[in-house]
Amino acid sequence: MALLQISEPGQTSEPHQHKLTIGIDLGTTNSLVASVMNGQSKILMDENNKAILPSVVHCGKDDKLTVGCDACPYANTDPTNTIISVKRFMGMSYKEVSTFKNCPYQLLENGNNVLFHTAMGDLSAVEISAGILSSLKQRAEKSLGDALSGAVITVPAYFNDAQRQATKDAATLAGLKTLRLLNEPTAAAVAYGLESGEEGVHAIYDLGGGTFDISILNFSKGVFKVLATGGDTTLGGDDFDALIIDDCIEQLGINKLTLTQMQKIKQFSRTAKETLSSHEFAEFDCIEKPYRITKKKFETLAKVLIKRTLLLTKRAIRDAQVETESIKDIIMVGGSTRIPLLRSMVSNLFNKPVLCSINPDEVVAKGAAIQANILAGNKPQDDMLLLDVLPLSLGLETMGGLVEKVIHRNTTIPIIRAQEFTTFKDGQTAMSIHVLQGERELVKDCRSLAKFDLQGIPPMVAGSARIRIEFQVDADSLLSVSAIEQISGVKANITIKPSYGLTDMQMEKMLKDSVLFTKTDIQTRQLHETQVEADRSIQAIDSALKKDKHMLDDKMLNNILSVRTTLFDIAHSDDEKAIKAAINNLENSCSKFVEMRMNNAVMKAMQGHNVDEF
Ligand code: ADP
Ligand code: MG
Repeated sequence: MALLQISEPGQTSEPHQHKLTIGIDLGTTNSLVASVMNGQSKILMDENNKAILPSVVHCGKDDKLTVGCDACPYANTDPTNTIISVKRFMGMSYKEVSTFKNCPYQLLENGNNVLFHTAMGDLSAVEISAGILSSLKQRAEKSLGDALSGAVITVPAYFNDAQRQATKDAATLAGLKTLRLLNEPTAAAVAYGLESGEEGVHAIYDLGGGTFDISILNFSKGVFKVLATGGDTTLGGDDFDALIIDDCIEQLGINKLTLTQMQKIKQFSRTAKETLSSHEFAEFDCIEKPYRITKKKFETLAKVLIKRTLLLTKRAIRDAQVETESIKDIIMVGGSTRIPLLRSMVSNLFNKPVLCSINPDEVVAKGAAIQANILAGNKPQDDMLLLDVLPLSLGLETMGGLVEKVIHRNTTIPIIRAQEFTTFKDGQTAMSIHVLQGERELVKDCRSLAKFDLQGIPPMVAGSARIRIEFQVDADSLLSVSAIEQISGVKANITIKPSYGLTDMQMEKMLKDSVLFTKTDIQTRQLHETQVEADRSIQAIDSALKKDKHMLDDKMLNNILSVRTTLFDIAHSDDEKAIKAAINNLENSCSKFVEMRMNNAVMKAMQGHNVDEF
């Protein structure tokens, strides 16, 4: 009997108002697309009723781009033109990717970017990712029957500006409007509806094909805050496949394999591994010899890898500064979390059952679809906005090679924050604005994001111009900066588009260094500040002498000049104490001169006026 579907109150809007949106999990190994239909988040299938699109792109001759399952066989027959795991290349510089192991591609350096030299021409990671996104877009349009109004695309929580920007660019190239980039662990939490529950800390354990990510999120007042991320970008399901490959080679006493045989064993081993998640044994024929492995044997081998993920999980919990017992939910994400032993070991660590009722391949895409549906305004009564936090501090270079942080790390985004700066020299008409990212105090220890100039500042006395510099970080963690001189209204702005990214390791190092070097950094900062102060004092006295030297008698003038010389000679030395003393000395020697100039100015102002007027 067919039942008419009636949606819950408020869950659907008028049909003509309903906007079609999708959520995309753009994965390293596999990608998926989902959409909310009749109030339910559903995975959209391809014409063969398959949910998963392998993230594989073949760039063949005659400009023939093949994506997904159809592209997989080319990984064996035409490896240089078949890009797998393109996600690892997003937002990366040539230098960074040249350290990648087992990379069969011909990579070309192109400024800060990398190009894959393929039969279709030289292509960037953004273009190849766009191929995957296009394929998912077409699938969605076919199954939803209309044009899409936008998409939420997920990215790892640790992705930096460059990697996020590259992902957004790929979407644009594929003709998709990005409603929002969403962190993968946050998407998983949304799929489980954790945001409708109470406040609390959750762990998201994600073991995919080639990467392991652990994230500790805190949900409070409608905001998911990433407390800590951890993991290993070189540990994933492939390593579990390798355990079976090695066992097979050893068992059967194989000592030589052709490349094709190796590829075959790889595929068989993966299938065997997946079989063992629901069967007691698995077997296949390897070069005409039968190979068999039991679940027990596999578990003995797999234990070592699982233990490694548990160690990283513990570290992330420690970094998040929470107690393991206080973690409310543990969400399992990624195909590899289907391994039963893995589930039980993770569950043991937390001493409670893990959440795995939603298919671990699909959970991220489903959460993204829910968020897309809300952002498009299809659930107007529910204005839940998921927020994230900034991974690294953002700031500006100030005098002396120092960094003034404008937005601190871990600030909830989106955010706008402004700070006022002023000119250093009399008559200064331009200001160079240098935007930096990182936790350290000195420019040289942070990462330069952009430089731009504010021109046309009206000439004024040093320190009297008022330049308001505004940092705006949107919900995708992308930054734009504007500078405006408040008195004249001259303006300059820039959207930061870094052309290369930071690796995970660099990011980790920057965070670590900031702790390690805090003490010396503070000392260096103080020294630099004192040096700048010395320069400023010298500049001030020079400018005063230029105008009003005639007010001084020889003795006073010589005294000031000699004290000035003492300061000038040590202004850039490392002796902070001596510089400070010399600055004080100069100030004292000048006090009479300052008073004289002040009186003189007052006299001038009063000329022609009646005392009563003041
Ligand atoms: P990614 O997030 O890296 O794109 P996925 O989450 O799709 O990857 O995970 C892919 C991995 O999951 C592959 O290594 C695959 O072999 C593994 N996998 C899929 N199903 C199972 C299963 N039943 N048992 C064990 N591993 C599985
Ligand atoms: Mg994934």
